[in-house]
Amino acid sequence: MSNKATDYDVLIIGGGVVGTALLYTLSKYTDIRKLGLIEKYSDFGLVNSASTKNSQTLHFGDIETNYTLDKAKSVKRMSDMVMKYLEHEKQSDNDLMLFTKYSKMVLAVGRKQVEDLSKRFTTFSQLFPNLRMIKRDEIGKIEPRVVEGRNPDQEILALVTEDGYTVDFKRLCHSFVENARKENPDINILLDTRLVKIVKNKDHFTVRTDKGEFHATTVVIAAGGHSLMIAKSMGYGKNLSILSMAGSFYTAPKVLNGKVYTIQVAKLPFAAIHGDPEVHDENVTRFGPTAKPIFQLERHNGSTFFEYWKTFGLGINPIISLFKIIFDKVLFRYILVNVLYDLPFIGKRMFIKQIRMIVPSVKLNELKYAKGIGGTRPQIVNNTTRKLEMGEAKLIGDKIIFNITPSPGASTCLGNAYSDTIALMGFLDNRYKFNKEAFEKDLM
Ligand SMILES: Cc1cc2nc3c(=O)[nH]c(=O)nc-3n(C[C@H](O)[C@H](O)[C@H](O)COP(=O)(O)OP(=O)(O)OC[C@H]3O[C@@H](n4cnc5c(N)ncnc54)[C@H](O)[C@@H]3O)c2cc1C
Repeated sequence: MSNKATDYDVLIIGGGVVGTALLYTLSKYTDIRKLGLIEKYSDFGLVNSASTKNSQTLHFGDIETNYTLDKAKSVKRMSDMVMKYLEHEKQSDNDLMLFTKYSKMVLAVGRKQVEDLSKRFTTFSQLFPNLRMIKRDEIGKIEPRVVEGRNPDQEILALVTEDGYTVDFKRLCHSFVENARKENPDINILLDTRLVKIVKNKDHFTVRTDKGEFHATTVVIAAGGHSLMIAKSMGYGKNLSILSMAGSFYTAPKVLNGKVYTIQVAKLPFAAIHGDPEVHDENVTRFGPTAKPIFQLERHNGSTFFEYWKTFGLGINPIISLFKIIFDKVLFRYILVNVLYDLPFIGKRMFIKQIRMIVPSVKLNELKYAKGIGGTRPQIVNNTTRKLEMGEAKLIGDKIIFNITPSPGASTCLGNAYSDTIALMGFLDNRYKFNKEAFEKDLM
């Protein structure tokens, strides 16, 4: 079935925080009217953007010690957009509960980490003027349980800020959609509708779904790990594969007042273990995420097993890359230990050693494996360089964009929407206008 009413200038596939941020940006800051969004589930933000699936953190790069200064500058620019959006929404309606603000710190333990962190502060404090370097006494005032029970001879140091935005990214999806609808009541949103295939014709795409066929001039795929599967079905991204890195969490009754991060291993594109208060319940502290490879594109969804292998690619090339990546000494050990963290009995006893770097006096009976919590990060494997890439990837094709979004994909959703909007204007031969000035005034 194809019907004129379902023709789109821009059709977005995926109703997570990346797809809905783009819907909002196009509705509010451009004059494109024929907009649509297709989501296979019955609601927005049910996959990695759900608050149960990610660490709920707005990453700026101030306490993520594996970010270079350039990476931090780029992530900060985009997270600032989300921060401004959140603050603006809070001002208009305090009951929205899109986020909670706590203190956040990165903690160095031991002489080497303390030296490295204090050097880092010299450079990073210029980009993050609210960041302060604090010693044991002040750490203990802000986070008593970080100091309680710790060997007094162990050196510790922290960088702290009050800007610990803890975000419910699923609610953020809803907020983007509601505001998009206010700007453009004609946008067409199809929930419970699964994209099956896209075919590129001369001047438009035929988009086949389980609810019928649609035509669109341009398409943006914001389907997380599935974006690469769809890209490959259209001949794009053939040199890429995905390492699907599931993250699990343990919870404890409130042992921290705010977020406490540990120092990251530079080689790894995954966040080091951290402790965070739940976005809607400060009385629960969540520790994690762990990182173990799974052969699924969606966590806790066995039906994505075959889709994972389609995305991975079945040739010898991705297998060589995978072996080369996994058999790196640092990564191999890291992955092995992380697989064990998910096991009953032994997992908790091993993981508690990591948590004790943050809260030395935490007791085994305070900790609980958070069943069903944690999504999976589609980390990009580059089969040409045979390397694991950091962060998100974007493939730009002929009037089509594919966004593949491991962490910090939720923090950068509006920055991503900004650059997609610029590309879309070109795809549409500049027949429409992107009011960049208004976007920048509101959000940058
Ligand atoms: C353990 C963990 C911790 C993380 N912590 C953080 C964090 O603290 N901060 C941060 O910024 N980021 C974090 N991330 C990353 C963040 O969660 C993701 O980058 C972000 O949610 C990606 O949003 P998205 O919209 O691209 O993907 P998703 O939220 O996964 O949305 C994709 C959507 O596409 C839909 N879809 C897929 N296929 C189809 C199809 N065929 N037809 C129709 N619809 C389809 C899905 O149903 C889904 O709704 C974390 C991730 C994990 C796993």
